[in-house]
Amino acid sequence: MVIDEILAYNEQFVKQIRLPIIGHAPRKRMAVITCMDCRLVQMFEQALGLERGDVIELRTAGATISEPEREGGLSDLIRSLAGGIYLLGVREVAVIGHTKCGLARADPNVLIASMQALGVDPQPLIEKAGPKSWIGAFDDVYVNVKEVVNEIRNSPYLPKIPVHGLVIDIETGKLEIVERG
Ligand SMILES: [Zn+2]
Repeated sequence: MVIDEILAYNEQFVKQIRLPIIGHAPRKRMAVITCMDCRLVQMFEQALGLERGDVIELRTAGATISEPEREGGLSDLIRSLAGGIYLLGVREVAVIGHTKCGLARADPNVLIASMQALGVDPQPLIEKAGPKSWIGAFDDVYVNVKEVVNEIRNSPYLPKIPVHGLVIDIETGKLEIVERG
């Protein structure tokens, strides 16, 4: 399994690298929200010029808050942001969607078929939330970024601080500003 590969690598890593001890409050006092896409691994921080300790990073599928989670305003993303703001000193937020996101036009039928193929009954999900809204599928990354920015700006649990919306090109790493907070 991949975990064995990781454990073997890690054994060498801790032998060879001695990490500096740094605090957990982000130096740039910023929270960055992006997608879980594997193409963003490493490239994302490099494209933004971010080093270890600079910002807190939050990742969700699609850099979104799904519709069922928006109701009530107590999504995991808002909870994590609250921790960053109230406990770690974050004073600026950037929501960064990306081009060619898997959740843009994600097909709920594929999701259902895949659940069934892996032995999970999709029926409770179909009855409760609807697979498309539950997984957080959207049609347009720019619209999604604006919606997430508004969810954060209008959250009754968060203070008024700048919240920006951006889209990163998954192939070149180029950032485009959609909304400036
Ligand atoms: Zn994505």
